[in-house]
Amino acid sequence: MKAAILHGPRSLRVEASPAPTPAAGEALVRVAVAGLCGTDYSIFSGERPVGYPRVMGHEFVGYVEAVGAGVTAPRVGDRVAVEPNYSCGACPLCREGNRNLCLTRTAIGIDVDGCFAELVRVPAQCCWPAPAGVADEDLMVTEPLAVVVRAAARAQVRSGEATAVVGAGTLGLLALQVLRAHGARVLAVSRSARRLALARELGAEATYASAETASLEDVGREFSRREGVDCVVETAGTAEAVADALRLVRPGGRVVLTGLPHEPTPVRFFSVVRREISILGSMIYQDEFAEAMRLVAAGQVRTRPLITHHFALHEIERAFAVHREPSSIKIALTP
Ligand SMILES: [Zn+2]
Ligand SMILES: [Zn+2]
Repeated sequence: MKAAILHGPRSLRVEASPAPTPAAGEALVRVAVAGLCGTDYSIFSGERPVGYPRVMGHEFVGYVEAVGAGVTAPRVGDRVAVEPNYSCGACPLCREGNRNLCLTRTAIGIDVDGCFAELVRVPAQCCWPAPAGVADEDLMVTEPLAVVVRAAARAQVRSGEATAVVGAGTLGLLALQVLRAHGARVLAVSRSARRLALARELGAEATYASAETASLEDVGREFSRREGVDCVVETAGTAEAVADALRLVRPGGRVVLTGLPHEPTPVRFFSVVRREISILGSMIYQDEFAEAMRLVAAGQVRTRPLITHHFALHEIERAFAVHREPSSIKIALTP
């Protein structure tokens, strides 16, 4: 089979590689379409080191080509969206249902080979049956969508609430639609105005480029018509975005963080205590894949407008270059 093999930072070659054989409990999936994201870029660039050689890629839809011993579901020929994380299943965190927090969690495309290839071997339990009648490309972002489905659930967003989403990348543009599906009003906030028109098209009632001069506190108050928004979902993963979220939220409100700020993030905890702000971390997903696919199938979340570019697998180096361009949101790769 063909696979894009990363031999070291920025050393990526599409090569012929032996087709993997599914072991007991595993499925072999023929990749139909794969999404490229910032995590892949940070692996490609070497910022996030992995064991080399490695096949990257963790957002994908495909068809089950073969199954290993003992697998009753999925079946050969099934179309599946793959949940690219699996946990040990035995530790206290896993046993209590917190499998996303398992200390020995395995990430497909990071810890083991992923989907920038024609075929990929995954545990059978990672395969979610794709709803009939929904195109592969529409399901391609099920993985990032599941992340924000969990974030909205963590924040217990209710109908009629005034909410804000910080960041207008893939996660932000999906989050605002999930919040809309909960019946909330959404203010989309981004450092740049570039994607705010798309945010409006996808259902944001109001948008704001936070580099503008008006104070973010005022923007939150004006939108909520009270002391600030009830709930903020932060998706950008920067110290600035965390600060923006804390400026938008009202006293007694909730801030849910889905981005992973790698830099030290100054937070005035005086203001957190004084205003009784709940700050919640939300890490990937536990059981949100089915709900993410349901939202796409029901048309409550539109994913296609996020796909800005298509490339064949052999053009993957160009895809990584285009990923860095401001015009790019989500790139689809086809083997
Ligand atoms: Zn991703
Ligand atoms: Zn575990």
